[in-house]
This record gives sequence, C-alpha cells and structure tokens, in this order.
Amino acid sequence: MNVFNFHLTNSCNYNCTYCFGKFPEKKDLPLKEACSVVDNIARYFSKNGIKDGRINLAGGEPLLYLHLDDLIEYIYAYGLKASIITNGSMLTEERISHWKDKVYCIGLSLDSAIPETNLTIGRSCKNKAPTVKQAVRITQAIHRNGIKLKINTVVSKLNVNEDMAEFYKRLKPDRLKFLQVEIIDGINDGAEKLAITKKAFDEFCKRHNKCCNETICEKSESLENSYLMINPQGEFQLNDSGKYKTYGSCLEEDLSEILSRVPISSDKFNSRYGKESKREVLTKKICIFGGHATWIKGLKESFVNARFFKDGDLHSIDVIRNAEEIWIQSNAISHSFYGKVVDAARANKVPVRYFEYAGILKCIEQVKFKKSS
Ligand code: SF4
Repeated sequence: MNVFNFHLTNSCNYNCTYCFGKFPEKKDLPLKEACSVVDNIARYFSKNGIKDGRINLAGGEPLLYLHLDDLIEYIYAYGLKASIITNGSMLTEERISHWKDKVYCIGLSLDSAIPETNLTIGRSCKNKAPTVKQAVRITQAIHRNGIKLKINTVVSKLNVNEDMAEFYKRLKPDRLKFLQVEIIDGINDGAEKLAITKKAFDEFCKRHNKCCNETICEKSESLENSYLMINPQGEFQLNDSGKYKTYGSCLEEDLSEILSRVPISSDKFNSRYGKESKREVLTKKICIFGGHATWIKGLKESFVNARFFKDGDLHSIDVIRNAEEIWIQSNAISHSFYGKVVDAARANKVPVRYFEYAGILKCIEQVKFKKSS
C-alpha cells in the first residue's frame, strides 16, 4: 500500500451535496500530532521497503488546515511525496510556487464549467461559484511550476449530460479522474437524489475519454475497501461496503498493526494506484538545474529526492553541498548562472554531470547509469 489519504480537516468553504469528506468531529489535529501520523505512515513505508510512498492531503478543504505548509515541509523532509486534493478556490500563484519542489501533484476537484450547475451542486461560497477563467489561471500556474495536475470530476445527475471536453482541454490535466457519485451511509445521504446509473456514468466517461492521456473512471463501488483514509482525528477509516468504519488511531498504534485487521481489497487498490506503483523510483539525492516545466514534471515522478532549480533560483549553496550529484540541462539557464552552479559544485567536490538529451526517459537512464560527458 503506497498511498494514504490524510484528511486534515472537516472544514470546507463549499457545501457539495455529495461530499464524502465529512467527519463527525470538528476539531483538527495540532501540527505535532499530524506529524506523528506522518511518522507512522513513513515507518510503514520503510518497514515494507516502499520507496515511492505518497501521502495525499485532503479534507474538507485542506487549505483550511492551519498547518498545511508546515506539514508539507515535514513530509518533504522524509523524502516522501505529498499530493493535495483541493477545490482550488483558495489557491494562489504564490502558494503554488511555494510548493514547487515539495508537492508532487495537485488534484483539483472540478465538477462543472457552468456556474449555475456549481451553485446547484453546492460548489460555491457566499453564492459565488468558480469560473472557467479562475480554473485556467490556477492550472496554468500549476503547469508553470512543474507540478503534476490531476482533475477529479464527480459525475451526478447535475452534470452527467454536460459537455466538459473543451474545459478539460483548456486545463491540460496530466490525469483526469471521473467518479460516479457515491453514497456513504450517514455521511452524505442527500446524494441519493443525485445518483446516476452505471450506464449513464459510462456514457459520460466515453464522451470525455480522449480529453487527457491518462483517464480513470471510478464506479461508485470501486472506492469501497480500497481508499485508505486517515480522518482529521488521526484515525484509520475505510469505506467498508458503503459505510465508514474506524479501525484504530494512528496516534496510538502502529499502522502495520491497524492494517492487519482492515479488509482492504488489494485488487481494487492496485487497479487505482497500480500504474503509479509500477513506475521505477530512484532515491538519489541530486540537484537538477535547468529544463522546461513539462520535462521537470516527468523527472519528478522518478526522482523522489531530487531538487529542481530554474535559472537564477539558488538561494543557498547548502543544497549543492548536500547533493550526491549535480545535473545540468543547459537549455533555459543563463551562462552566468551555469558558471555559478559549476563553481559551487567544484568548490564542494560534488560531481557535475550534463544531460545529453531532451527526452525524459533518456535523461532518467542517464542519471541512473551516470552516463554523461
Ligand atoms: S469542495 Fe470537496 S470537501 Fe468541500 S464540500 Fe465539496 S466535495 Fe466536500
């Protein structure tokens, strides 16, 4: 199990009828305890030799969790991947750029391009629904900062007939996930009136299948017994056949112990995250200078401990001093910055290597086998 969903808060500025990110207890964990949950997950990954572990930070709306940035730093310091699922309404360019090296993927939940539909769903704050323009602005900033973009759309009676193809094409997600509206006993009972048939869901998926290279369709039952969830109180929960059940506290018990009594469906888990698990992951501590946003995004998937730097972006020589190797993609960096990096690396006896290709796979091979002129 290499992906855990840590729901940091029950609070959200939206009120979607079918929201399943709701929890009875309203108080969020203090930072120290949230970090203990991360410690527990990291221990589990380490014990099980999982090198590509990811912690997905969700809510409610995770940007309403007071200690979100500190927690991301903490996860990053472990060399684990952090991703975030957000409604995007509070995302700013500044925040996205701050997360540049630390967040592997931002998932935006976007259920309609039509403001009236969003209002009816409850995806609005003070009667204001998100606009296409806002979504374009946010997604452009995510792409610019080399962070992977995922879009999640819950398909219900309210959007099942909508044509969202143009909307998706403008946002250019790296991954697009459609989720059939799901009813969880006692959590989102109001969602029942928005439920759709499998056939209607399949038709929506078929219509939008070509809007992204990686499209995933999750029928309502596929979340059952496979979505590994830690609630805002640090308790491990599972959607066990349409009902949330709690199996123990990650603050009190080792995660491996808790998981030993959880009825997880590995088939469902693997079909959701399998592709991610099969990817080769390298843990070398390297600094990579230069390269365009899409190239950086591709490399980030394989080099979990790499740090990426754009032209002029070097605030401390310590990052070079602590690196195993320095790699330079000479496109998109100036000659003077290149000189500064090479001088610092030589002064600290850190080997400097050069990418000889523009293609992501060849560059990964190069780093793996240290093939460089
Ligand atoms: S934006 Fe997400 S967390 Fe907030 S109410 Fe809607 S579904 Fe729930």
